[in-house]
Amino acid sequence: MIYKRSSQLFANAQKVIPGGVNSPVRAFKAVGGEPIFVERAEGAYLYDEDGNKLIDYINSWGPLILGHAHKPVIDAVIEKAKKGTSFGTPTEIETRIAELAVKMVPNIDKIRMVNSGTEACMSAVRLARGFTGKEKIIKFAGCYHGHSDSFLIQAGSGAVTFGTPNSPGVTQGTAKDTLLAKYNDLDNVKELVEVNKEEIACIILEPVAGNMGCIPPAKGFLEGLRKICDETGILLVFDEVMTGFRLAAGGVQERAGVKADIVCFGKVIGGGLPVGAFAARNEIMDYLAPAGPVYQAGTLSGNPLAMAAGLAMLTELDSKREIFESLEKKTKYLHEGMQKVLNENKIDFTINRVGSMISVHFGKEPVTDFDSAAKSANLGTFNKFFHGMLENGIYIAPSAYETWFISEALSYEDLDKTIEAVDKVTKEF
Ligand code: PMP
Repeated sequence: MIYKRSSQLFANAQKVIPGGVNSPVRAFKAVGGEPIFVERAEGAYLYDEDGNKLIDYINSWGPLILGHAHKPVIDAVIEKAKKGTSFGTPTEIETRIAELAVKMVPNIDKIRMVNSGTEACMSAVRLARGFTGKEKIIKFAGCYHGHSDSFLIQAGSGAVTFGTPNSPGVTQGTAKDTLLAKYNDLDNVKELVEVNKEEIACIILEPVAGNMGCIPPAKGFLEGLRKICDETGILLVFDEVMTGFRLAAGGVQERAGVKADIVCFGKVIGGGLPVGAFAARNEIMDYLAPAGPVYQAGTLSGNPLAMAAGLAMLTELDSKREIFESLEKKTKYLHEGMQKVLNENKIDFTINRVGSMISVHFGKEPVTDFDSAAKSANLGTFNKFFHGMLENGIYIAPSAYETWFISEALSYEDLDKTIEAVDKVTKEF
């Protein structure tokens, strides 16, 4: 494929944007080469500035569960934009999307809209601290909760891709309040809780991890965390930025049947516009300003265009619940197809899959936490795989630590093409 124009655009961008991108993983630094500049996208496909057509497995890193430029979402945004883009006053649509979210997600009474997943998680932790009067939090190595200071301790996703899971600029004072646990290791959590009794506000986690590849919670892990929290008064925070409205209409709370105290959202809830949200039962949410003392605000929070996109997206998912089953079937098909050709080509691999999240790891051992994900990251192999797939018109995340996001726009023909590409690329390994 030819990337002449992308290359020129990247050169221009690097002069005025740090690293040429507004979010690090986009730069392809981890896999080598230069990023592709996208001109437009529709359904399952990206069209780049050089006219190449790519089957997209990133889908804007998760939001576009129904594919690009999904008509009901686009129409809602256009209609809304004609009436003005932002007022900084309450609007009816904010209540409508809140009502729908509260209906779809179990165990929440109220929801507050923000502008990103980072803001959602950061605000959820502040609320947990304000509500409990405690300061420490437990997070898990390899989980990513956005780029706010407390979370850049052994973070996953771009932070680990770039070798900065602990970012310079985070003060020691902040870092000391974040206790680090091993994903899927309840004993480790119990030890931390025991040693820091009376000091912990919340345990935050991705209830299905998606930022060290896709890692499902081990049997009993989420239930065990719930029990620890029930016994100690620690709040359980599910970061469902990736999983919310994706793994089920009600996210992992519904899928696993485990209740969280606070739930964070992002990605799908905004339909591709900048939205995050956090939600909980009344007792906790009423602690938030202006009802309560914990401050949180935003000039563009609940923005009409973003709410229109989000409402259209959630309405589609709510009214067509069969989508979740269809997504799961497509993902299973891809899993089985890739498994077959990787076995035939005698490649060491592990595939993890939950619902419409799937990741391929180039190692034989099970990938269950950050250490095993790092062991299987096998960067040389992954980078060859990434570029090979790209050359064959398949766009996967440019990092060994990311999940592939399956969209409903992908056809079985697209999946077959992808499996063929995996076969072709790994035959040459
Ligand atoms: N939490 C999780 C689980 C995420 O995957 C992400 C982003 N990938 C975030 C939080 C941060 O969201 P945002 O990039 O919208 O700030």
